[in-house]
Amino acid sequence: DTFYRHLPKAELHAHLNGSVSFATMKKLIARKPHLNIEHSMTAISSGQRRTLEECFQMFKVIHQLVDSEEDILMVTKDVVREFATDGVKYLELRSTPREEAKSGLSKTRYVETIIEAIRQSKQDEVDIDVRFLVSVDRRNGPRVAMETVKLAEDFMLSSDGLVLGLDLSGDPAVCNGKDMLPALQRARNSGLKLALHLSEVPSQKEESEILLNLPPDRIGHGTFLHPEVGGSDSLVDKVCKQKIPIELCLTSNVKDQTVPSYDKHHFQYWYDRGHPCVLCTDDKGVFCTDLSQEYQLAASIFALGPEAVWDLSHQAVQCSFAPEPLKQQLKRRWAELRPQVL
Ligand code: 5GP
Repeated sequence: DTFYRHLPKAELHAHLNGSVSFATMKKLIARKPHLNIEHSMTAISSGQRRTLEECFQMFKVIHQLVDSEEDILMVTKDVVREFATDGVKYLELRSTPREEAKSGLSKTRYVETIIEAIRQSKQDEVDIDVRFLVSVDRRNGPRVAMETVKLAEDFMLSSDGLVLGLDLSGDPAVCNGKDMLPALQRARNSGLKLALHLSEVPSQKEESEILLNLPPDRIGHGTFLHPEVGGSDSLVDKVCKQKIPIELCLTSNVKDQTVPSYDKHHFQYWYDRGHPCVLCTDDKGVFCTDLSQEYQLAASIFALGPEAVWDLSHQAVQCSFAPEPLKQQLKRRWAELRPQVL
């Protein structure tokens, strides 16, 4: 539907290596035929579902395919261009710095290469503003988390404002959020914005209780925060009182089976309370979706009219980590486009 594609959108929750499209994957597979990787090992096509554990297996496969500077540059430029083609005007991309002995890649070069790709996209006049969040993979524990925060701090100062914050992600079965507190507190104190995956699985209740005191600037998923799914009033109170926006990824949660079906998605719970909700793709490559499709799905499942859809996409700008002048610029852009879209 052209309405959703023309709707200006802001994507705030996109993991780089989960966002690799079919076309880019084909190029990567052709570069490394000896790995014998097929596309079915890196994406969940329509009607299929996987366990969360299987999804994390997929990321490992993708990481084998994206392991050099050359790969990261190509993947980032492709992903940025694809979001722009989908009508995304502002993108906060996130990725976990990785070192790869085989290709001589360091974590610093990893981030530098992504920043270089963002700069090249700008030079190529791709119509999108891109910023970067450095991801902490919880699986790697508190020591690596602290190193990653220091790396993020350095880039926040040296990237001309391209690095804005920190993401806490990785397999939620590794429930060590409490151990991450010193790193997350340090990040906060140094001015990095915090986007934390919280309560993706039911066992994270206590962890969320602790991390919500930071508080984070945005919440990823928050699937099991509310009492109807085993969360608690105290968690909901903290989120509501502090008005912490929640990044909601419909297709991702249905395909990784943390939500039983689209109509049972917790979007409804938070949206009905007037809480700031941001629709996002999470991993557009792995989950075979795009942001237009996520808006269209939300509209049809939760009966949102065009004005309500517009308000959602406009609100996403407000929830972004963009500095105030960029937010104002984006809001003007939205205002200019409104008569053509609505
Ligand atoms: P990358 O950071 O390598 O660019 O993107 C893939 C990584 O993002 C995964 O290895 C994982 O750490 C994180 N990730 C992607 N999707 C999800 C998700 O749905 N939940 C969580 N917790 N982490 C995710």
